Amino acid sequence: MRESLIDLSYIAASVLFILGLKMLSSQQTARRGNVVSAVGMAIAVVATLLRQDMAFGYIIAGAAVGGLIGGIAALRVPMTSMPEFVALFNGFGGIASLLVGWAAYQQRVGPWAAGEAIPGDPPVWYLAAAIYVTLLIGGVTFSGSLVAYAKLAGRISGKPILFRGQHLVNGALVLVALGCGVMYVLNPAGVYPLFVLAVIIALGLGVLTAIPIGGADMPVIICLLNSYSGLAACASGFVISNNVLIVSGSLVGASGIVLTKIMCKAMNRSLTNVLFGGLGVSGGKTSVAVQGEAKPITAEDAYYVLEAASSVVFVPGYGMAVAQAQHVVRELGEILEENGAEVKYAIHPVAGRMPGHMNVLLAEANVPYEQLVEMDDINPVIDTVDVAIVIGANDVVNPAAREDEGCDIYGMPIINVDYAKTCFVLKRSLASGFAGVDNPLFFRENTRMLFGDAKVSVQALVTQFKET
Ligand code: NDP
Repeated sequence: MRESLIDLSYIAASVLFILGLKMLSSQQTARRGNVVSAVGMAIAVVATLLRQDMAFGYIIAGAAVGGLIGGIAALRVPMTSMPEFVALFNGFGGIASLLVGWAAYQQRVGPWAAGEAIPGDPPVWYLAAAIYVTLLIGGVTFSGSLVAYAKLAGRISGKPILFRGQHLVNGALVLVALGCGVMYVLNPAGVYPLFVLAVIIALGLGVLTAIPIGGADMPVIICLLNSYSGLAACASGFVISNNVLIVSGSLVGASGIVLTKIMCKAMNRSLTNVLFGGLGVSGGKTSVAVQGEAKPITAEDAYYVLEAASSVVFVPGYGMAVAQAQHVVRELGEILEENGAEVKYAIHPVAGRMPGHMNVLLAEANVPYEQLVEMDDINPVIDTVDVAIVIGANDVVNPAAREDEGCDIYGMPIINVDYAKTCFVLKRSLASGFAGVDNPLFFRENTRMLFGDAKVSVQALVTQFKET
């Protein structure tokens, strides 16, 4: 009876996960989708705790320690560090799965060595294979995510790290890992050193997979690691025969892969090219010298242009997150609308430092969803826009990606703000963006630079409208 109830709860939780995920795909329903998924997770946790073989002492102690660390970290992390925080989360998912696999092996290695069958266990080869897969994916996810964290947090260089024979080394390690796996599955109790070697190889492979990726390609590896963390959880579900872990792990794995594909499309690259290409190796330079004289503008002069504009498009980027300018940007948008302009917010898929970063910030500021437009929808009409206001974006509006075949981000689709009638760029200097590529947009005839912190600059524009 108890087991049936647990199984039923798992089915209910899985259905809620799927519904929640579906709702997350639209901005209107995303908040509710989050709640629905969280309810599903609560049901799954309670149902799991109902199992008779639970060691409640360990669970409560683990939840208390983990909850405390997670709670303090979440309270202290600034919004701008969210991306690296998410990268760490992926990593902890990976290490948790690895430890589940290792613990399962530890429990069984004795009986397996003694040739004893464990009641209720699946065949030994099946369990050994599940443990091994959990271990490999979990290890790769953990160390890969730590590298991604270090790159995003600026603790190591964000540039790709490549060395001669890198692919050979990776290939050799994969072969050794596969070899160890076959030997382990054939004789799980007798090859403990190989098991430990596999853990080390998995951790090494994670590092080697993440270091060659850098610059504008980082979103892809973040999505991929997110997917890996789901696959690791799914594999650990097979190890401990937990259906809801299998379902939730597959959902994370599959949605991570879909997101990876979307990011690759946004960069106009194939996954193979991202994983093995090493974007940004040339040191982030454009092949054509980017030069000219940038034309600064004051908030007062910018106001006169905006006052006369009948269509305005905001293009937010990472700098908007740094400046936390989203609320005042929404205020300026409302003022422009009241002034008779049509206002839109054009979002590039890789703007910011995590997938959906700009959508989250604009939703937080209550920007109406119907004013958000995707890159593919704004580009065909951008030449009819009176003013494009770039708020702390750089790489995602860099015309070098369209025009300069020799530059590191060549081929990445951008929002063509330089085709608008006038373009205001709000940033603090002429410095390059995350990919380290110089930006010729700043020197275009129709570009005006409004230098300064984005929030201060937008606030100054709002003040101009209010006082004039
Ligand atoms: P960029 O990183 O290219 O540029 C951000 C710009 O913001 C900087 O050039 C900086 O210029 C400016 N800035 C910083 N602080 C402020 C501030 N307080 N006020 C005003 N401006 C500020 O951002 P984009 O969004 O254009 O591009 C995102 C990049 O990050 C892409 O290369 C993408 O591939 C990468 N990436 C994206 C991830 C994702 O999942 N979305 C994950 C990891 C990387 P200045 O210093 O002169 O002010």
